[in-house]
Amino acid sequence: MDFELSDEQEQIREEVRRFAENEVKPVAQEYDVEEKFPFEVLDAATEMGLNGANIPMEYGGADYTALDTAIIIEELFAADPGIALSITATTFGSDALIEYGTEEQKERFLEPIATGEAIMGAAISEPDTGSDVSSVSTNAEKDGDEWVINGNKMWITNGSVGDFFVVMCETDPDAEGRYNGFSQIVVESDRDGFTSEKITGKLGIRASDTAELIFDDVRVPEDNLVGTRGMGFLQLMQFFDITRTMVAAQGVGIAKGACERALDYAQEREQFGREIGDFQAIQHKLADMHTRTEAARQLTYKSAWSVGNSEDQLTTLASMAKEFASRVAVDAANEAVQIHGGSGYVNDFDVERLYRDAKITQIYEGTSEIQKNVIARELMDKGF
Ligand SMILES: Cc1cc2nc3c(=O)[nH]c(=O)nc-3n(C[C@H](O)[C@H](O)[C@H](O)COP(=O)(O)OP(=O)(O)OC[C@H]3O[C@@H](n4cnc5c(N)ncnc54)[C@H](O)[C@@H]3O)c2cc1C
Repeated sequence: MDFELSDEQEQIREEVRRFAENEVKPVAQEYDVEEKFPFEVLDAATEMGLNGANIPMEYGGADYTALDTAIIIEELFAADPGIALSITATTFGSDALIEYGTEEQKERFLEPIATGEAIMGAAISEPDTGSDVSSVSTNAEKDGDEWVINGNKMWITNGSVGDFFVVMCETDPDAEGRYNGFSQIVVESDRDGFTSEKITGKLGIRASDTAELIFDDVRVPEDNLVGTRGMGFLQLMQFFDITRTMVAAQGVGIAKGACERALDYAQEREQFGREIGDFQAIQHKLADMHTRTEAARQLTYKSAWSVGNSEDQLTTLASMAKEFASRVAVDAANEAVQIHGGSGYVNDFDVERLYRDAKITQIYEGTSEIQKNVIARELMDKGF
């Protein structure tokens, strides 16, 4: 067993940390307050190849491993989760194209993503469909050589800035079996009948774009189907193994960011004639935060390493990592605010934003309750 990161991975971490320090941190508050999408930061990230991290080199991406990508996500989220999500989610949904897309689809959709010319998203959730993905009702019907799509998608990251989306549709409502009959179809945002409405007033990650998508007789070529017709649900579950691991990395980053800011403040702020970091109560908080962050990191890295190395344990590991790291993130941000006292309650300090941003990691890509359902189901089936 080897717990060391490679020299190359340490170098990636260092470069991303420097980028986050110079390009992300200084503007984080502005984008949060104004709830605006950070196009300018995205341009700088594109120059570094950060938004095409997971895309194979032949399509212009950096072809980083899942573990490399987790390290990048950790460093960006430690700086600012809203901007970090905007950078790292420009390729959200691309794993389905990498795994199941045709050569033509990969060239058409992956290349513009890798080069920063386009932004994509993955549209699964609907107003009445969240945790229970098998109740998706957005419908795609075949008409000649086209799909005609009708329905609404809710809470879609990049929804009002995206150029195309991998959309989960019901294509075969009469298929036998609860999980059959769904398919993933790429829909471009310039198709007739497609509209989106930005959702504002989010608790956190306000620099990330979230929108409702409306499909009103949207026609796309039959070639926009990704993978196998009727197998969209299964394809999605495989996609979740990777994306949940990446949300775990988001949690590790937020927890790390909270630890760093709390430590700095504990060594600056004085009460009763000494640094508050001299009080054992504060030291114990810092010790707990640091220990739990490291535990979440190890679980997340193991899950990331399992992508391509040990896939049989990946589903459980991804859910464990996501559930645990998101809880650690929320708790660490909470303690960081506590250590800042009243100063932590206003947006002069980053911890106020981290506290609001952390919560999303327990909700998207399957809530914490759903992760526990997955872990328990695997446990009941296979034992320890
Ligand atoms: C900012 C943001 C960005 C998002 N981005 C995307 C995106 O890009 N693409 C996309 O498709 N979706 C996205 N989502 C949607 C997100 O994935 C869903 O909100 C999430 O899956 C939960 O679904 P829901 O909101 O409908 O809650 P519900 O499913 O209605 O759940 C409500 C509560 O009931 C609990 N619950 C439900 N079923 C069970 C069960 N079987 N056992 C125990 N508890 C249960 C849940 O854990 C939760 O606590 C985003 C959401 C937000 C807020």
